[in-house]
Amino acid sequence: MSNDTNAYLNLPPPTPVTPRVPRVVIVGCGFGGLSVARALRRAPVQITLLDRTNHHLFQPLLYQVATAVLAPGQIAAPIREILSGQKNTTVHMAEVVGVDRTRRVVFANSPDRERVPVPYDNLVLATGATHGYFGHDEFAPFAPGLKTLGDGVELRNRILQTFEQAEAEEDVRAHRDLLTFVLVGAGPTGVEMAAAIAYMVRTSLRAQFRRIDPTTARIVLLDRGPKVLGPFADELSQAAKARLERLGVEVQLGQGVEKIDAEGVVVGGQRIASKTVIWTAGVAPSPAGKWLGVETDRAGRVKIQPDLTVPGNPEIFVVGDTASLVQDGNPLPGVAQVALQQGHYAGEAILRRVTRRPSAGPFRYSDRGIMAVVGPGYAILQSGKLRLKSLVAWFAWALIHIMSLAQPGLRLSVFLQWLWTFVTGQRGSRIIIRRRPEPTAPNPAAVRPPSEARAAK
Ligand SMILES: Cc1cc2nc3c(=O)[nH]c(=O)nc-3n(C[C@H](O)[C@H](O)[C@H](O)COP(=O)(O)OP(=O)(O)OC[C@H]3O[C@@H](n4cnc5c(N)ncnc54)[C@H](O)[C@@H]3O)c2cc1C
Repeated sequence: MSNDTNAYLNLPPPTPVTPRVPRVVIVGCGFGGLSVARALRRAPVQITLLDRTNHHLFQPLLYQVATAVLAPGQIAAPIREILSGQKNTTVHMAEVVGVDRTRRVVFANSPDRERVPVPYDNLVLATGATHGYFGHDEFAPFAPGLKTLGDGVELRNRILQTFEQAEAEEDVRAHRDLLTFVLVGAGPTGVEMAAAIAYMVRTSLRAQFRRIDPTTARIVLLDRGPKVLGPFADELSQAAKARLERLGVEVQLGQGVEKIDAEGVVVGGQRIASKTVIWTAGVAPSPAGKWLGVETDRAGRVKIQPDLTVPGNPEIFVVGDTASLVQDGNPLPGVAQVALQQGHYAGEAILRRVTRRPSAGPFRYSDRGIMAVVGPGYAILQSGKLRLKSLVAWFAWALIHIMSLAQPGLRLSVFLQWLWTFVTGQRGSRIIIRRRPEPTAPNPAAVRPPSEARAAK
């Protein structure tokens, strides 16, 4: 009905309809999700960010929590705090368990409520990955992986606890099994962890036990592939292997692990007895593909289009480790840079839509290189034709990692901690944290009120 018609019928003019602010739901606040939120910080949208934890975690330094160099709070920051200045964003700690593409809602569980529908106009799934045991889930109880802050603390407990146990163990034959650490998977996490444990036993722990010699600890790094750090050029991979061996790590390549149980691992028909086996071999994507009921790749990652959306659903973006995108014939790797760049692209794409600007063309990953650290003061770096294996590469690694932490306070704290550890050999958090088991409930009949107890005297 036009205004003229209203005047003719002597009706009041219609109330102007205020267009609803578009609702953007971001699931996951890792590298991908945080990057989306930041790209939308000034956008005229209402963002709901859901994460099952209350923190953004800097996973590349998680191995330093597991090896007691850094404390958990030095590599993670509360999501609320990071985004406190971003007024268009509401943060909820909730676990997403499903998506209804037709109704355009995600379902989220919080501690007191289940399957709460959260409506969206645009949805970004950035739920990352978890440990993958290549179909051998029976390995999981004996070979924990490293993915969350809880995993890092649990591994730190386990590693430190074995030294305490060995110190208390009368039977010296048991020391060997206790002080054998096996890492399954010689990718960056396996290499970094193995080198860090080897360095820890030879520095911080060296002189602090009386009955055991921590430097006799055996650290074994296994991989079924022919080299460590598969994606790196051969010369860098060989340099990393040589460095590991100098640090005292045994590297066994070319044979897959056949069995992992409470007594250790079996590889190439040989058993390596160990009480601490760490899984650093593989990851599996989050169940985002199942929630959406769309096509996934063999690993279970959601196959997305070059604009990072799900085929048939231009309002749903999937980014980071849980997405599968082929560029120039190769699938993009599950690394932080891919998640960051995809997150930024998805945020920009939503901004363009809501501000009615044309889309920016397909996503293109710009590979800035890869690096891995092999003990303090040594890293390898590969970027285009540049190949470095030295202290210089370590400085580049340290600078990039410090600058990539989410908050200035974390950057300063990690920098000072590294400096302190370098100078004194003391680690930031060599603490075993275990909750004491609940005492068995007292027999109510045996408990008397204090007055009664006094009267009985
Ligand atoms: C130990 C380790 C070391 C690494 N080192 C490097 C490195 O040196 N360089 C590098 O480039 N990459 C490294 N990576 C890989 C890199 O961290 C990942 O590629 C990157 O984190 C992927 O980002 P993402 O946003 O996809 O997922 P993530 O960063 O994993 O974030 C996923 C988020 O989603 C949340 N989430 C998951 N499921 C749900 C749910 N159902 N509901 C709500 N929230 C949910 C999680 O809590 C998490 O906050 C490392 C990874 C690990 C585990």
